[in-house]
Amino acid sequence: ISFADLGLAEPLLRAIADAGYSNPTPIQAQAIPQVLQGGDLLAAAQTGTGKTAGFTLPLLHLLSAHRPAKAQPGRPRCLILTPTRELTAQVEESVQIYGKHLPLKSMVMFGGVNINPQIAALRKPVDILVATPGRLLDHVGQKTLDLSGVEILVLDEADRMLDMGFIRDIRKILALLPAKRQNLLFSATFSDEIRALAKGVLNNPGEVSV
Ligand code: AMP
Repeated sequence: ISFADLGLAEPLLRAIADAGYSNPTPIQAQAIPQVLQGGDLLAAAQTGTGKTAGFTLPLLHLLSAHRPAKAQPGRPRCLILTPTRELTAQVEESVQIYGKHLPLKSMVMFGGVNINPQIAALRKPVDILVATPGRLLDHVGQKTLDLSGVEILVLDEADRMLDMGFIRDIRKILALLPAKRQNLLFSATFSDEIRALAKGVLNNPGEVSV
């Protein structure tokens, strides 16, 4: 199976070719078609399996396919939550690499640094926000971030987010999102806690595991 068989748009196929990938990994082959269909997804995948491209490629496709006239400042259409600063940076790098031929804007947001440059960055248009949960809520509190336009939510490394004690923050964030949205949850492990979170977040999800 090739990336073209999965139904990805041509600018994404070009970026994949630029990255030197010849074929989708198993998680990509399973996840990409399901996400492109618009459904929710529960994915069991470790780091190193290609999971980041597994959600980044189809969400870039969907966002570019139904694009409003202009991205809005401080009002992302896609929210990707991750447990750590390092992971936000890695995921956003993937968004940049795979989205290089698309006119979508992304930004990262994480704690442990001065909030003011992030507030300044939010005055620019943003389509895709990659964030850690605590700092994201700080921005909501400062009214510099509006989550009412989120169409796609990704919880990446959900098990690590729970291990790090982010469950209450995640629940607060969920309450701020529009009810009608697409949800993707990636986790390396499946504890009862993850299953409970998945049950609360995902709507009739497809399941993939590698
Ligand atoms: P991840 O599991 O998302 O952390 O990705 C692991 C690594 O695999 C990253 O360095 C990617 O650049 C690389 N990668 C992702 N998809 C592919 C692919 N289809 N072919 C070759 N390498 C890939």
